[in-house]
Amino acid sequence: PRGMSLLTDALRNKGTAFSEAERDALGLRGLLPPRVFTLEEQKQRALGNLRRKPTNLEKYIYLTTLQTRNETLFYRVLQDHIEEMMPLVYTPTVGQACLEYGSIFRRPRGLFISIRERGRIAEILRHWPIADVRMIVVTDGERILGLGDLGALGMGIPVGKLSLYTACAGVHPGYCLPITLDVGTDNDTLRNDPFYIGLNQKRVRGPEYDEFLDEFVAAVKTVFPRALLQWEDFGNTNAFRLLASNRSKICSFNDDIQGTASVALAGLLGAHRITGGSIEKQRILFLGAGEAGTGIADLFVTAAMDAGLTEAQARACCWFVDSEGLVVKNRKGRPLAHHKIPYAHDHAPIATLAEAVEALKPTALIGVSSQARAFTEPIVRRMAALNKHPVIFALSNPTAKAECTAEEAYQWTDGRVVFASGSPFDPVKLGERTFVPGQGNNVYIFPGVGLGALACGATEVTDRMFLTAARTLASMVGEEDLAKGRVYPALTRIRAVSLAIAVEVAKEAHKEGLATLPKPADLEADIRQSMFEPVYQDCL
Ligand code: NAP
Ligand code: MN
Repeated sequence: PRGMSLLTDALRNKGTAFSEAERDALGLRGLLPPRVFTLEEQKQRALGNLRRKPTNLEKYIYLTTLQTRNETLFYRVLQDHIEEMMPLVYTPTVGQACLEYGSIFRRPRGLFISIRERGRIAEILRHWPIADVRMIVVTDGERILGLGDLGALGMGIPVGKLSLYTACAGVHPGYCLPITLDVGTDNDTLRNDPFYIGLNQKRVRGPEYDEFLDEFVAAVKTVFPRALLQWEDFGNTNAFRLLASNRSKICSFNDDIQGTASVALAGLLGAHRITGGSIEKQRILFLGAGEAGTGIADLFVTAAMDAGLTEAQARACCWFVDSEGLVVKNRKGRPLAHHKIPYAHDHAPIATLAEAVEALKPTALIGVSSQARAFTEPIVRRMAALNKHPVIFALSNPTAKAECTAEEAYQWTDGRVVFASGSPFDPVKLGERTFVPGQGNNVYIFPGVGLGALACGATEVTDRMFLTAARTLASMVGEEDLAKGRVYPALTRIRAVSLAIAVEVAKEAHKEGLATLPKPADLEADIRQSMFEPVYQDCL
């Protein structure tokens, strides 16, 4: 019985790599085929199996199954082939996986806590088999990528993000816990689907929702006192509020607001090295004034104030177009949401993005609207006429939601654009030149920030930590990246990037008096040695 339980424990299972001695000592003899393989051989076999799968969704399923069978091998594959694996475990494939989460569901992963379990959340957290949880990613599934309300199907996102914590920053997989809070869904298609896996009811909102969330936060603090909480893919009516009311209560951050802000700011800082611009001279027009857009603007304002602008001057650099046109003071229609008010400037109303570009003459256009192809040819060409090197970031995910494609951006600007996207695009050939578009993916930021916060026992994750993270990321963009038009380092350097960010975040925590662990003499060495490496441990 001992041997079989090892084979079903993904954290300790080695499959065919258990040695002869282990097979004898641990009751494994006979449970495995006779030949002993190395981790490297297993990896080659897994890669072959994976690459033979005909679709990305099949590849996703293969990887998920591998993860539930053998985590060491899963992370070896992920880490050694990160550029190939990232689009499978994260955007865009994870989007499709969420849409079909109910039908591709093999074995549950993480915790599902529904609003019916009110009053029992702590008890449910204790059902998790590991007591020392350090990293939690939680969603309520209301705004999954740019796909909208997917209810309980959103679980694919916390699962995927935590895999990236381990692969990209070496947070031990045993510390990681994905959680979905199911408060219902307003997605009619799901509620009419007889096989939908979540609660078949409308979303609970108002005081009942808030009490449920309060209970959740309190339960996490009691059951997992060392855990850092990442809010993920909440709808924006809840996201801003939850962050504001909880960030000093429990060490937590919202990746859609703060992580996005940091990666986009890093991209802007990188872009300046190509355009020769500087932060205080920017005029940024955002399409989309939600979590991502106003999050980016808020961090931009912090950075611009560091560069000498007043707050009013810094806010005046940021303009927004939302679903009702340019965000301006005294706009008719719905009252402005709280997060938009600092960016509602005095200006005549403008209905469309094209007219806003014309009126404001922005240096940069940032798409965070989930409106596919909203950056049309005339708009992009106008940006190219206004700027020698227009900055255009089409950040909406997954790929089908991007405001324009990489190819469009390079073609319509004759290769002068500084482009980045949320989901990956292939390199683009234009005449003699090949452009490698950077991916403004939060994965450059959150794993390092989380690792740094955990390493020093931070009691809070502050905006200045995200600013530090952005600067650190930007500093790691090399001349060779810029030469290809890429404002982010290659993903193959992600572990080094995460480590560098973690070190700077921990330093910042110490500086702000928010670290609870003593500062080691060599912070970098200390964090580096804490990083999980996917290698087999001797079981004897
Ligand atoms: P959100 O909070 O729901 O905000 C969406 C915004 O888009 C809202 O301001 C909404 O306007 C606006 N919008 C909707 N339809 C529009 C239209 N037709 N024209 C102009 N604006 C429109 O969502 P979010 O968290 O900011 O995320 C937005 C997108 O960014 C998603 O696709 C997400 O995947 C992507 N994202 C990418 C990254 C990344 O790649 N690093 C990170 C985070 C998010 P109203 O306010 O008027 O409703
Ligand atoms: Mn997200």
